[in-house]
Amino acid sequence: MTTLTVRDLTATFTGPAGPVRAVDGVSFEIGDGEIIGLVGESGSGKSVTLRSLLRMLRPPGTVSGSVVWNGVDLLALPEAKLRAVRGGEIAMIFQEPMTALNPVLTVFQQIDETLATHTDLSKAARKARAVDLLDLVGIPAATERLDHYPHEFSGGMRQRVMIAIALAGEPRLLLADEPTTALDVTIQDQILKLIVDLRDRLGMSVILVTHDLGVVAQTCSRVAVMYAGRIVESGSVASLFAEPHHPYTRGLLGSVPRPGQERQLLLSIDGTPPSLADMPQGCAFHPRCSFKTEICMAERPPLASIAPGRLVACFHHEAVAAAGLSR
Ligand code: ADP
Ligand code: MG
Repeated sequence: MTTLTVRDLTATFTGPAGPVRAVDGVSFEIGDGEIIGLVGESGSGKSVTLRSLLRMLRPPGTVSGSVVWNGVDLLALPEAKLRAVRGGEIAMIFQEPMTALNPVLTVFQQIDETLATHTDLSKAARKARAVDLLDLVGIPAATERLDHYPHEFSGGMRQRVMIAIALAGEPRLLLADEPTTALDVTIQDQILKLIVDLRDRLGMSVILVTHDLGVVAQTCSRVAVMYAGRIVESGSVASLFAEPHHPYTRGLLGSVPRPGQERQLLLSIDGTPPSLADMPQGCAFHPRCSFKTEICMAERPPLASIAPGRLVACFHHEAVAAAGLSR
C-alpha cells in the first residue's frame, strides 16, 4: 500500500540572478513500513527535497507539485493543519543536530513540545515517556539527562536526542537526513539498527538520505539517485546496485557492495556538479559523461521506465548497463 505519493515536486529559490530550481520535478512513492534511500553528491537537492515535503524551506524557497499523504495533499493543506502533521505523523531528523535543536530549552522541554501537542498525556506521563524515549535511543542515565541542555551532550548523543524528539510523536513516516554522518562507525551502526528496529516495531516508513552505499544495501529496499535536483535513476537496491543504467550511478557505485563488506562511500566522479544558476543544455550530467553524444547536449532525457519498478533518465542507458561496473 502506498503511504506517500510525491508528484512533480519542485523547489524554487529566487535570488538576485533570478529563480533557480534546487529540486526539479521529483516524483516517487513510498509504501507502509518501507525504507527508501536517497543518494547523490552534496548539493544535489536531497535536503531540499525532504524539507519541501513538509513545506519547511527557508525563505525565499517556494514549493510546487503534490505530496499526497494518506489521501491528503500536504502542499495544499492550510499551515495550521500541516503543523499537526509535522513532528506527529511525519517527523524529520535534520542533517545538523546543533542547528535543529533549541539551545535554550532542555531535552525534556523539546521532547515535550511534541508530546504536549500530539498526545493527551499528563505532565507526569509525558516525563515518563520522555525517559522511555531517551532509553530507547540509548542515552545512559535518561532520568538525569532530561533536564540537560543540548550543549551538554556529545555529538553522538545530540544526534540521539534529535532522534528521540523525532520519535516522540510515533511518526508513520520518518525523514532522516544523513542521520549518522559525522558520527563514529559504532554509533552509526547503533542508530541505523535503532531506525530499522522502529520500522519493524512501529511499521513506520523511512526516507533515508545517506552517502554510504553499504548503509543503503543493508537497510533500504529501494533507492533513488539524485543529480542536479532531479532523480536520474531509481529501482530496487538489488537491481540498481547490480546493474546501474545511469552513468552517474555507475560512477558513484564503482563496484558492487557485497554483503558483509566494510562501509562503502559514494565514489567521487571527475568534474563538478553544475551550478543551479547555469545548468547545461540537455542532460545536466553530459559535461562529466563519457557516454555522451549529440543528443545529450541538445535534449534532456526523460526519466523513463526500463523494467518494472526501474526508472532511468539517460539516452544511452543500455550502453551504460552493458559497460558494467568499472572495477
Ligand atoms: P544536498 O542535501 O543534496 O547536499 P541541498 O538540498 O541542501 O543539497 O541543496 C540543493 C541546492 O539548493 C544547493 O545548490 C543549495 O545551495 C540550494 N539551496 C538550499 N537551500 C537554499 C536556500 N535557502 N536558498 C538558496 N539556495 C538554497
Ligand atoms: Mg543535505
